[in-house]
Amino acid sequence: MKRALVCGAGGFIGSHLVKRLKRDGFWVRGVDMKYPRFAETEADDFLLGDLRDMRTAQDAVDMKFDEVYQLAADMGGAGYIFTGENDADVMHNSAQINLNILEACRRRNCFKIFYSSSACIYPHHIQQQTANPGLAERDAYPAAPDSEYGWEKLFSERLYGAYARNHGFQVRVARYHNIFGPEGAWNDGREKAPAAMCRKVAEARDGGDVQIWGDGEQTRSFLYIDECVEGSLRLMRSDYSQPLNIGSDEMVSINRLVGLIAEVAGKKVRHKHIPGPLGVRGRNSDNTLIEQTLLWRPKEPLRKGIERTYGWVARQVEAARQRTGA
Ligand code: NAD
Repeated sequence: MKRALVCGAGGFIGSHLVKRLKRDGFWVRGVDMKYPRFAETEADDFLLGDLRDMRTAQDAVDMKFDEVYQLAADMGGAGYIFTGENDADVMHNSAQINLNILEACRRRNCFKIFYSSSACIYPHHIQQQTANPGLAERDAYPAAPDSEYGWEKLFSERLYGAYARNHGFQVRVARYHNIFGPEGAWNDGREKAPAAMCRKVAEARDGGDVQIWGDGEQTRSFLYIDECVEGSLRLMRSDYSQPLNIGSDEMVSINRLVGLIAEVAGKKVRHKHIPGPLGVRGRNSDNTLIEQTLLWRPKEPLRKGIERTYGWVARQVEAARQRTGA
């Protein structure tokens, strides 16, 4: 039986990845500071610990794994990474995790490792128009990410590359573009736009207001979790060793996203634009390279993922309402 280690297995993408690896017949160890919030972990073994501590990293990698997935990071949506208040934590914590995991893997000869980078590494000056034609992997340099979160991801991409060159690692680096779906953060300050907007629409009465940060014309693309996991596994098992976008190329404005969610919810809502942290003006994934290298690209329409996610968020909102009696 093949063995996989998932770092960040208590998080959104990590917990879904564990489920998929189990379905594929792996023995899986998860490691995280916390258990998954919304469902029992399916990992065979779950190590609760802080990967900033080298001893935890060594305990996690105390045997040989066929595949290591490193998804643990100090991260959140715009409300967490763009205010500036969490910059030192984001950079220090995530860099420390990556330094520790790579070193622990080197000591145990676990050389096959997947790293989750982000579209946030791309330069901000090529994302100032809402009509973004798509960020291609070669656009990363000269580097100018718009957040310290992006700079840490870029540093770590290079760290993984250095371990590949100097220590013989087989490194696979995905640049995720806004992943969404059920069982992700939706109300704790770390939620991203799709979950946040699903919550706001679910909480709104028919005809009521939904608050949107900025003018809502800023654009993004959103990838449903199942396609993210599928792309990650395909990349891991390919022989492609450079960073690769894993994202949707169905770009929408935030106003359109809210409109779509309201349609799915069967509600009419009014957009109320308020000041808030925004990030870049326009972002989309260029999927030319993933199609060429993996002969696969994400293709599910945004609406389908929103239908599943809205249903889940609406149930959380309803359960919270019943708990508080509001
Ligand atoms: P998440 O916050 O749900 O999961 C990250 C997990 O890492 C959390 O469970 C957290 O507890 C864990 N963690 C943080 N610090 C830790 C520590 N010191 N020790 C042990 N565990 C620790 O985030 P996610 O959405 O599942 O993202 C997974 C990865 O993908 C992250 O590296 C993130 O930067 C990257 N990514 C995600 C997106 C997205 O849209 N979700 C986009 C781009 C990149």
